[in-house]
Amino acid sequence: MKILCIGRNYSEHAKELKNEIPTEPVVFMKPATAVTRTGKVFFYPEFTKNLHYEGELVLKISRNGKKIDEKFAKKYFEEITVGIDFTARDLQNKCKDKGLPWEIAKAFDGSAVVGNFVPIKELENAANINFSLLKNGEEVQNGFSKDMLFSFEKIVSYISNYFTLLKGDLIFTGTPAGVGEVKIDDVFEGLLEGKKVMECKIK
Ligand code: MG
Repeated sequence: MKILCIGRNYSEHAKELKNEIPTEPVVFMKPATAVTRTGKVFFYPEFTKNLHYEGELVLKISRNGKKIDEKFAKKYFEEITVGIDFTARDLQNKCKDKGLPWEIAKAFDGSAVVGNFVPIKELENAANINFSLLKNGEEVQNGFSKDMLFSFEKIVSYISNYFTLLKGDLIFTGTPAGVGEVKIDDVFEGLLEGKKVMECKIK
């Protein structure tokens, strides 16, 4: 299983980090060892002083495919959840400044929190899915899938030109505005259309 992630997929978030609005999806990966299942504790890594949360919609790939036409991309995912793309922002900024790859800042152990998956067809508003991230009971991020610069179909199609997608692969689809710092003892909750699907405590 592999995890593909999209960066800068909401213009308001790109702006808050002073990044350009991309004209093509920004893709990076995390290995299977990055997964933190919902309900599990995440241990604040010793190598960063500025860990950030990024709440995101996460798709689960439901069938194998490569070079998938955008028109048919819908057939390749059936379930969705909310996750967190933990980012060591200090390391990421250092890598970015030097034009180096980001992996140590994004793909480390436990950096991909994954909630419980829900069938997309069971959602009330599948065409414009709402999600939110709560930190210690207070909402810190709220997003709608329609605000993504690149749609689910576009992302799946684009990624599959480079990486064969296999059943069970996950796609983190980018974070809306409102990212911020993580502290030890924080509790994060992910809501999909108001229903809790993810929880993660920081230790
Ligand atoms: Mg992200």
